[in-house]
Amino acid sequence: MRTKIDIPGPLGQPVYRHWWGSQLTPLARLLTVVLPRLFDWLFSLLLIGLLAPLLIVRGFISQWQSGQVFTRTSLLGRYQTPFQKLAFAGKGKGRRLAVLFNILRGDMAFAGPRPLSKEEAAQVPVDALVRFSIRPGLTSPHQLQQRVAIAHEAESVTDKEFVYSETLKGDAGLIARSAISNILGGGAPKPSPPTLKFFGISMINTTMDEAINWIVTQTRCAEKSHLAFVNPDCLNIAYTHTEYSDVLRKATRVLPDGIGIHVGCRMLGVSLRANVNGTDLFPRLCEKVVEQNLSLFLLGAKPGIADAVAANMQKRYSGLQIVGTQHGYFSPDEEASIIQKINASGANILLVAFGAPKQDIWINSHLADLKPAVSMGVGGLFDFYSGQISRAPLWMREIGMEWIWRLIQEPGRLWRRYVIGNPLFLFRVWKQGRQ
Ligand code: UDP
Repeated sequence: MRTKIDIPGPLGQPVYRHWWGSQLTPLARLLTVVLPRLFDWLFSLLLIGLLAPLLIVRGFISQWQSGQVFTRTSLLGRYQTPFQKLAFAGKGKGRRLAVLFNILRGDMAFAGPRPLSKEEAAQVPVDALVRFSIRPGLTSPHQLQQRVAIAHEAESVTDKEFVYSETLKGDAGLIARSAISNILGGGAPKPSPPTLKFFGISMINTTMDEAINWIVTQTRCAEKSHLAFVNPDCLNIAYTHTEYSDVLRKATRVLPDGIGIHVGCRMLGVSLRANVNGTDLFPRLCEKVVEQNLSLFLLGAKPGIADAVAANMQKRYSGLQIVGTQHGYFSPDEEASIIQKINASGANILLVAFGAPKQDIWINSHLADLKPAVSMGVGGLFDFYSGQISRAPLWMREIGMEWIWRLIQEPGRLWRRYVIGNPLFLFRVWKQGRQ
């Protein structure tokens, strides 16, 4: 519905605008331009009305503290038109409420890409300039995903997708999810140390891109690497399972997986850079494996599952080399021949999906005999990518509720892990925090 035309912005870059002329039908214009603005205008007016006493008191406090009601930050709005973003001057809570006046005035919207400074705008890639065709917003999908540590794409990419798929209903959902995620990840920013420690197990606090580059680098090392992902359930197991916790301590790298780790980090006063879970990592790894001419071996899950994953991923990533598969229900007698099969395949990276703690204990005990440079334990990953189990929709992941989705799908097997495990994990983190 949105046609792009090039017009130069104040920074000399081409800016894409909506086509206002005959190309946008009256109905399309009503749905994509008029209604969202009307919604923002009415909703901000309503909030200003409801909060009026608070806003007036806040204004007086600001005036009294610093001699002015508002501070203004110069940012770029729609079509890169400069505007002054308002905040209440002085110290204390509620400073950011002044942005409601920006929304009422039409400088900003509730939902939209983050308003950028001139310097930041100059960094936006040309193919993502469409982000300037709508009003900047108080919340965007990227900011929302950042709050729960699942923002694995570049901001410009997420913003672009948002512009092309924006609807009034989508905006309302985004605003609601942002309000909820504020509880999980809002508040003042916390320090983000290079490693995170839970119950004596150290994890690397990193980003998705860095984790994938690390795997590629390790495939070129003589030393073999064991990569493990841990979620709260794994940490609960390791709490009492000495062999497993020793294996995790010995692993080359442990990565944090799941919203529970994010919540645990906040309880300890630190922030998780990214929820680097295997499920989000896998498709990105496949892309990299093609680019770097590497190969994978898939070991684990029920018969037929790993083959289905290989077929699906090879369809998605042409040229992807999956040089062998093997199900995960074999007897100890078959083990030697399976290791031989893996080694003969010439794979650089071995994915082992037996679930925790079995997969990591298995990798640890066979690491010396395995030829692939990197072996990683990936849990139920193959079941997802074979289409056996469906992944929670993005909106559920954005409010940290993927575990509820999994619980509904397999309540018999998973209720103990989540209903008892999650509170137990948080209790143990709380205890660690007190020590
Ligand atoms: N599995 C296996 N061999 C076994 C036990 C389990 O291959 O002896 C597989 C199982 O079929 C499933 C995965 O291991 O695909 C474990 O999935 P789960 O959902 O428990 O993993 P997580 O929740 O740890 O990601």
